[in-house]
Amino acid sequence: MKLTDLVRPNILTLKPYSSARDEFHGEASVFLDANENPLNNPYNRYPDPLQRALKQRVAAIKGVSADQLFFGNGSDEPIDLVFRIFCNPGVDNVVAIDPTYGMYKVCADINDVTYKTVHLNPDFSLDASRLLAATDEQTKVIFLCSPNNPTGNDLDTQAVKQVLDTFGGITVIDEAYVDFADRPSYLKVLDQYPNLIVLQTFSKAWGMASVRLGMAFANPAIIRFFNTVKYPYNINLLTQRFVSEALEQANQTRQWVAMLVAERAVIAKELARLPLIKQIYPSDANFVLVKVDDPNAVYAYLVDKGIVVRNRHTVTLCQGCLRITVGTPEENKQLLDALAAYA
Ligand code: PMP
Repeated sequence: MKLTDLVRPNILTLKPYSSARDEFHGEASVFLDANENPLNNPYNRYPDPLQRALKQRVAAIKGVSADQLFFGNGSDEPIDLVFRIFCNPGVDNVVAIDPTYGMYKVCADINDVTYKTVHLNPDFSLDASRLLAATDEQTKVIFLCSPNNPTGNDLDTQAVKQVLDTFGGITVIDEAYVDFADRPSYLKVLDQYPNLIVLQTFSKAWGMASVRLGMAFANPAIIRFFNTVKYPYNINLLTQRFVSEALEQANQTRQWVAMLVAERAVIAKELARLPLIKQIYPSDANFVLVKVDDPNAVYAYLVDKGIVVRNRHTVTLCQGCLRITVGTPEENKQLLDALAAYA
């Protein structure tokens, strides 16, 4: 489907807010255009609304052009924007895998958009034909999350390709955990699929969850809609500067990822020895999902020891499951020792 047939009519014709920094960006010696306080430099000034300097640098690292990149206040912001740009409230629907990351449904509910789910197979693999069969004329968006949260597995690339090749609407692939997976990002096929949106974040591998910087990658026509709908100054100066400096430590990020992936294997191996653990699901992310007989009791036991994991017992297909984030080697040892002592 053409982008103009997918975007909500009111967004297609939207005249976006034009900020002072949109109307003039460049060098000048006296800025009297934005009703800023002239004192307390540099915090007195509004930040670049399009984060041009940071975008150039991140785009180069990611191997895309800057106009294929949108920055949000976490990747949660572009998730919400997808609904606001493409889905007519009370009319359109989206289709998502189940279980998956909870914010897609929350954003659908906030935006009054029907959220249709298709269960993953019991081994958490994706049945693309079943997913596609759940779409209809009013389906604007399919949400895929790979590696998936909370299951941890990467979705089969052939199944994802089938969705991309067949679905006429927007496909979102949330790659928050891609750095921990053993495959290249779907960014490499961005140019082949004009209706593909890939989400990534600085919250996981880069260790900057508190900084709130998420990325949406898509063709420039989609990125333009993100830019017209977002709040004018959605990314603050501190975040832009901090991340710009942190990009220098890409090597450290790679080392962190290598350590966490190695620790993930250690945890999986050690957990497998414990009679308490009934199943460990394979993970391509920085967490592992495990099944136990009494998840509520194990959860409470660990909290009592000062260790907090995520109880996913009530989530679709995850009965009896706890989700355990990979920590430092010391933290993981504490967890394993505590579980080994569980009576
Ligand atoms: N996508 C997935 C799959 C996640 O698990 C999370 C956070 N847990 C996010 C997106 C949101 O991340 P952030 O807003 O920090 O970028």
